Amino acid sequence: MPGRNFLFIPGPTNVPRVIQNAMDIEQEDMRALDLPEFTIPLYQDMKKIFMTETGRVFIFPSSGTGGWESAITNTLSPGDKVLASRFGQFSHLFIDCAQRHGLDVIEVDVEWGEGVPVEKFAEILEKDKNHEIKAVFTTHNETATGVSSDIPAVRKAMDACNHPALLFCDTVSGLASLEFRFDDWGVDLAISGSQKGLMLPTGLGIVCASQKALEANKNAKCNRCFFAWEDQIATNDNGYFPYTPPMNLLRGLRVAIDLLLEEGLENVWARHNRMATAVRKAVEAWGMETIAKGPQWQSDTVTAVRTPEGFDGNEVVRHAYRRYNLSLSVTIGKIMGQGFRIGHLGDMNELMVLTPITGAEMAMKDLGLNVELGSGVAAAQEYLRTTSKDRF
Ligand SMILES: *Cc1c(COP(=O)(O)O)cnc(C)c1O
Repeated sequence: MPGRNFLFIPGPTNVPRVIQNAMDIEQEDMRALDLPEFTIPLYQDMKKIFMTETGRVFIFPSSGTGGWESAITNTLSPGDKVLASRFGQFSHLFIDCAQRHGLDVIEVDVEWGEGVPVEKFAEILEKDKNHEIKAVFTTHNETATGVSSDIPAVRKAMDACNHPALLFCDTVSGLASLEFRFDDWGVDLAISGSQKGLMLPTGLGIVCASQKALEANKNAKCNRCFFAWEDQIATNDNGYFPYTPPMNLLRGLRVAIDLLLEEGLENVWARHNRMATAVRKAVEAWGMETIAKGPQWQSDTVTAVRTPEGFDGNEVVRHAYRRYNLSLSVTIGKIMGQGFRIGHLGDMNELMVLTPITGAEMAMKDLGLNVELGSGVAAAQEYLRTTSKDRF
């Protein structure tokens, strides 16, 4: 089959050629004398991506899910109360992970399409005078519905009642694409993975822990072995690892961090906002809506497009893949079939982001939806054309 597949799912994302090349290396001795010259600055610079000076980064051969497990088991004990809300497949699985580790989750169910219910959280925290709640779980970007949440507002609510719980933030599909400020936002545990904003293949679970979280680690009684921070701390500080590290991915991560810092994180966030706005202009031109209920919730990394009632939105994804070699993303969980998702994060520019819009239009038209060919593309083109700047 001539031509290539076009990947526009919210992770894994497209891996830039320079990162691919950096990973295409001979296997390395993980006990090499000069390895710390590589690893120590890598950990230091990963902190810049989280925007933290006081936090500590842990990197596991894993994925985002392992990051959840690491953050949970290293700071909490079975029976601990945690406050969490469910508004999509990932916030749902985050809760599931906590429950399987024996935590007592206070679940706040929210309609899918909205995000972290800050006011409801504030109310619950205010009433928790004995501080039985040990952690507050948030999902920065709910990838299943294309919804971003206001994490600083959660910190504000916690501080307003002097609540000492740890603030957890799943930013697997937010870090290195949406604004994220670990120190300024007062996050205690940030969890990410390699295959989304960091533009790498899957294989790293990355956690950033505050000093308070590191303190909590000393008394946390959840069972842990592979994800234990103690073992990482004992070896990472010397530039080594408690078990075999995924060196190819770490070499790739080095280049990913360099690319992001060279562009500037604020420019990275602004670029993602432009890509997302272009997609939203297209959705509007199609006469459709996003699953996210309004601009305050709409994500800049993934858009879930709501298709007309009675139509299986996942047909668009299957058809686009079968006929046009375009990978869009299905809707999952409670909103399965209500639409389809376009991932627009990571290594992405103007002409790239027009591709899933073009392909989705063709697929929808093929399937008999009332979409005018070129309408979404034109709206996105006009927005991108009038907001683009010369590259040099
Ligand atoms: C992708 C994702 C995860 C899970 O990551 P895996 O790498 O698949 O384990 C968790 N949370 C969010 C918000 C995600 O987008």
